[in-house]
Amino acid sequence: MTHEIVVIPGDGIGQEVTPAAVRVLEFLDLAFEFHEADAGDHVLAETGEALPEETYELAASTDATLFGAAGETAADVILPLRTAVDSFVNVRPATAYPGVDALRPETDLVFLRENTEGVYSGHEDRLSDDLSTLTRVVTSSASERLAEFACEFVEDGGYDGFHVAHKANVMRETDGRFRDSVVSVAEERGVETEEVLMDAFATHVCLDPTQFDVVVCPNLAGDVLSDLAAGLVGGLGMLPSANIGPDRGLFEPVHGSAPDIAGEGVANPAATIVSAAMMLEYLGHDDEGQRIRDAVEAVLEDGPRTPDLGGDASTEDVTDAVIERL
Ligand code: ATP
Ligand code: MG
Repeated sequence: MTHEIVVIPGDGIGQEVTPAAVRVLEFLDLAFEFHEADAGDHVLAETGEALPEETYELAASTDATLFGAAGETAADVILPLRTAVDSFVNVRPATAYPGVDALRPETDLVFLRENTEGVYSGHEDRLSDDLSTLTRVVTSSASERLAEFACEFVEDGGYDGFHVAHKANVMRETDGRFRDSVVSVAEERGVETEEVLMDAFATHVCLDPTQFDVVVCPNLAGDVLSDLAAGLVGGLGMLPSANIGPDRGLFEPVHGSAPDIAGEGVANPAATIVSAAMMLEYLGHDDEGQRIRDAVEAVLEDGPRTPDLGGDASTEDVTDAVIERL
């Protein structure tokens, strides 16, 4: 079966790391049909619109989207694109690779971040010159959908269970609902859960990340805590992510457009290439996804490195080395 994939490089280093990942995918010569699409700051400047209708439609109708980055227009591009794929969970693995200088080289965990509500639901109001408010939205249905995914993730991955990070001792109603919904789905399915307060989690994960394998979080907590974990594993150039919906997915590095190094050809392509591996696994090509992971791991260990990892190689050198390993 041919899979339809839309590729959106976007802005800044997205223009460099996305083609690198596509080169790796093309080398594997799978039954993929690639569609090129555009979005981001440069599209806004040219057309007055950061996310063209046709790009949105492609993301909403193809099997998977590989996305690079958007600069100033990130919120106008990535939030609608996540809606286009109806993505209810953002999968963010934080894994330290052998040989890469990391604060906590033993880190190997995965965040499953709620991707549709919480404090990122967009309900903000300015009520007076002095007062602004935010409405936090938590539904049982979104929490349960996340929990169902988490249970499958744990079963498929051979994990013992998962942690639920929350702050239900303070936000009793919203995080209470989140916690109760997630735990009750897991109980029904016979999956073990352990609760952890999200502030305490921040300390525990720094002191000993090996306590955690799979961590289910509300939206904002997942965003902040996964960036914290990026700091433990060697920086933003390393973290891939997958936005999963019921029928399609969107795969992107956690980092942004990195304007400080854009155009120099030295961006680390690892996060985007591993995001492409996550896409392959999502599409059922588990073996090829693993081959890409192994190749990236081998190159990170003793191959050429980009400057963020202390080397002087270019994006292209690293990509060539990954393809060579494949
Ligand atoms: P944006 O507004 O698009 O998020 P930013 O200025 O926040 O841009 P990020 O992309 O979030 O930049 O990156 C933060 C820092 O990490 C920058 O110094 C950037 O150079 C570095 N960085 C991010 N991704 C990579 C990468 N793939 N390779 C090397 N360095 C990176
Ligand atoms: Mg940024």
